[in-house]
Amino acid sequence: MEDKYPFAEIEYKWQKYWEQHKIYEVEKDSSKEKYYVLEMFPYPSATLHVGHTRPYSITDVIARFKLLQGFNVLHPVGYDSFGMPAEISAFERSMHPATWTYQCIDNIRAQFKRLGFSYDWRREIITCEPSYYRWNQWFFLKFYEKGLAYRKKTPANWCSKCETVLANEQVIDGQCWRCNTKVEQKNLEQWFLSITSYAERLLDTSNLKEWPERVLLMQKNWIGRSEGVEIKFKIKNEELPVFTTRPDTIFGATYVVLSPEHPLVNNIIHLSKSRGLIKKFVEKAKSKDMTIATILDMEKEGIWTGFYAVNPVNNEKIPIWVANYVLTEYGTGAIMAVPTHDQRDFEFAKKYGLPMRIVIQKQTSDSKLQNVEEMTQSYEGEGVLVNSGQFNGLENKQAIDKIGIWMEQQGIGERKVYYKLRDWCISRQRYWGTPIPIVYCEKCGIVAVPENDLPVKLPKKITITRKGQSPLAYVEEFVNCTCPKCRGRARRETDTMDTFVCSSWYFLRYTSINSEKVPFNLEDVNYWMPVEQYVGGVEHAILHLLYARFFNKFLKDIGMVNNEEPFTNLLVHGMVIKDGAKMSKSKGNVVSPDEIIERYGADVLRLFMLFAAPPQPDLEWSDKGIEGANRFLNRVWRLVKQVVESEKCGGQENQRILRKLHHTIKKVTEDIERFHFNTAIASIMELINTVQQSSPIRKEILETIVLLLSPFVPHICEEMWESMGNKPSIFNQSWPKYNPELIKEEETLIIIQVNGRVRDKMLVPSGISEEDVRKMVLNREKVRKWTGGKTIENIIFIPDKLINIVV
Ligand SMILES: [Zn+2]
Ligand SMILES: [Zn+2]
Repeated sequence: MEDKYPFAEIEYKWQKYWEQHKIYEVEKDSSKEKYYVLEMFPYPSATLHVGHTRPYSITDVIARFKLLQGFNVLHPVGYDSFGMPAEISAFERSMHPATWTYQCIDNIRAQFKRLGFSYDWRREIITCEPSYYRWNQWFFLKFYEKGLAYRKKTPANWCSKCETVLANEQVIDGQCWRCNTKVEQKNLEQWFLSITSYAERLLDTSNLKEWPERVLLMQKNWIGRSEGVEIKFKIKNEELPVFTTRPDTIFGATYVVLSPEHPLVNNIIHLSKSRGLIKKFVEKAKSKDMTIATILDMEKEGIWTGFYAVNPVNNEKIPIWVANYVLTEYGTGAIMAVPTHDQRDFEFAKKYGLPMRIVIQKQTSDSKLQNVEEMTQSYEGEGVLVNSGQFNGLENKQAIDKIGIWMEQQGIGERKVYYKLRDWCISRQRYWGTPIPIVYCEKCGIVAVPENDLPVKLPKKITITRKGQSPLAYVEEFVNCTCPKCRGRARRETDTMDTFVCSSWYFLRYTSINSEKVPFNLEDVNYWMPVEQYVGGVEHAILHLLYARFFNKFLKDIGMVNNEEPFTNLLVHGMVIKDGAKMSKSKGNVVSPDEIIERYGADVLRLFMLFAAPPQPDLEWSDKGIEGANRFLNRVWRLVKQVVESEKCGGQENQRILRKLHHTIKKVTEDIERFHFNTAIASIMELINTVQQSSPIRKEILETIVLLLSPFVPHICEEMWESMGNKPSIFNQSWPKYNPELIKEEETLIIIQVNGRVRDKMLVPSGISEEDVRKMVLNREKVRKWTGGKTIENIIFIPDKLINIVV
C-alpha cells in the first residue's frame, strides 16, 4: 500500500497557492474585529535551527485560529538585522556586514516559507535598510527636542570582547549579556535616552492584561521604586544629603557611609590626615565590579575618614566612613547606618566595632526589652519607638510618615521617591548600527542633523578594525561634514545606536505598507494597535519589553499613537533542548529544520513542536516524537482517502460520534484560546480513534476534523479539504461551532439504599463508575444519617440504576 502522503509536493503546492491568492494579505477593515499577533522578530544569524522555529510555530497557530474565527488578522515578520554578530562574522570572514546580513536574511526567509507560516510578506521589515533606520534617527531627534536625549560623560559598562558600551539592562550578573565577558567601567561620553522620566508610568501595568507574573515582577524590581526621606546631615557648613526608606530609625543612626565614588570623597582625601590610606582604599574599591549582584556577596570593607557628620534630628556627631557596600547609583550615594535595624549595617558595625543603639523595640509577651549586647543580628521587624525623643512610644509604621512630615516642617529633610532604573545608554562603538544624527561644530557645539537631511547613511566602504573605537571614526568622508547651522567645519558623531532602538517600534512600522514619508501612518496604527498577542522569550523581560513600552509611551505623548501600551497580552515560550542542553552550535546539538522538512515535511515538524509540550516550558527534542507525528498525519491522510474513495460515505448519523465531535470542538477551541495546543491535538487524536471504529464514516465529520487540525498542520489540511470536494482555501472557512445541546451530559437517576432500604436518590452522569458514585453517595447527609459511626461491610452497585450500602 502506497501509504506515505506526498508531503513535498503538497507543501509546495499550497505555499504557492497561498501566495498567488494572497490568503494572508490583510488590509484595514472597520467591519471586522482586528487581531494583531506577533512574535519577536528574529536576529538574522546564519540559519534557524529547530529551536528557533518553535515560537513562530506557536504564533502561526494563533494567527490561523483567529483567521478561521473571522478576525481581521495581522501577522507580519521582519529581521532585527543590525548588531554586533554581523560585524564579528564579517570581520572573521572578511566580508562586508551587509553582505553577510542579507545572506542570512535570504536563508531565514526561505526557511519561513518552507515552514508555511501565514505572514503578510508585503510588510517585511529589514532594520538595517536606510528606509527603516532613518526613522530611528528621526525618533532620536524627537527625543532630543523634548530634552529626553542627552550626552553625558560617565563611567560606562564596557565589554572588552564586544569592544563596546552596554546599557545597564545588558549587564547580567556583572557580565555582558551577549558574550558573558566580565564588564568593566570606562569613562566615556555617551548618549542617553531618559527612560527614567517614564519610571512611574512604566510601573503602572494596569493595561497589560495577560502578562506572566514573573515578567511583571522582573520589570518592577528593575525599576526599583522606593519611597523615603532625603535627610540633610551636616558636615561643618556643608550639607550631606542621605536617602533612607526608614526615617523611623533616624535616631538610631550611629555612623554615615559614603560610596567610594561619592563626590565628597575627593575633598576628604585632600583634607584628611590619613589621606594615603583612604586613597588606597578608594582606588581598590573602585577597581572592583560595583553592581548590586556582586555587592551582595562581597566582604564588607570600609575605612574611617576622620570626619564627622551631624544628625539633624538630635545634633549628634557621628563618624563618616567610606565603604564598599554602598552603591553610588542608589539614592544619593550616601547612607545613614542603623546597625540595630539593618543587617548590612549590623555586619559592618560588628566587624569594625562601631556603636549601636536600639530605636525600635520588638513587642514581646513578657515585655522584656531587647538590648544591644544580646543582638546576634539586626531587628528589621515592627515595634515601638524608643530612644527617639518626642517620637517615643509610636508604632514604627506610623512613625515613618510622622517623622517624614516633621523633618520637612523643620527643613531638615524632604520626602522623595528614588528609582533603581537608570537612563538608557544607547551609544555603541561599532559600525553596524544606526548613526546617531548629531554633529559637533567647532563654533556651535552639539548640533542635531535637521530632519530633512535624514537619513545619515552608513558609508558602504568600511574597515572593521575591532580596535575599541567605532570603525566609523576612521572614515574621513563620513566624519568630516559641514555644520547645518553655520556651514562651518564639523565632525559627525561616530557611535551608532543600540540595536534595541530598532526593536522598540518595529511593531508600529508593520501596520503601514510602503510608508516612505512617515515612520507609519496614524490611521494604520490606530486601527491595528495594540498587539493583542505578543510571543517571545523571557530573556527580553527587562530589555526589549521595557524599552518598547517606554518608546510607545513617548510616542503617545507626542501624539503618534493612541495606546499607552503596545502589547496587551504576552506569551513567554520555553526553549528547545536536546540531550539536556539548549540547542547551540557550540554544543553541537543543533537540529536543522531543513533536514526534518526534507524527510518528513513541515507539517510533521510543526505538529511535533506543538504536541510535545505546552508553549511555556522547555521542550525536549525527540526523534521518536517526530516519528509519532509522522505516523499520525499519515493515518489521517489514509482515513480521508479511504472515505473519499468509498461509495458508502454519507451514512447514518451516529449520536455517540456526533456528541464526541461536539465535545472535541469545544475542547479544542478552549485549549487553543489558552495555548494548550498539546491537549487540543490529543483530543483530536482521540476523536479520530473513535471515528475510525465506526462505519461508515460520514464525510462531514471528517471535514470538521480537518478544520480543527488546520491551524497546526495547514498544508496537509488544505489538500485533504480539497480532496473531499471542497473549494480552497480552508482558511476562508469558519471555525466550527459546537452545539450546546449535544455536549450536555446525559443523566440517570440512581437509587441509594442502606441495608436494602431506599434512603435517597441522585442524578449522575450516565455510565459513571462505581468508585465515583461511592464517593458522592457516602458524603450525602441522608446517607450519613444511616451509616454514621458504622462499618461498611459491603457495597452493591448496579450501573446506572442502584447502589446499596451494607453496614
Ligand atoms: Zn560582550
Ligand atoms: Zn556651526
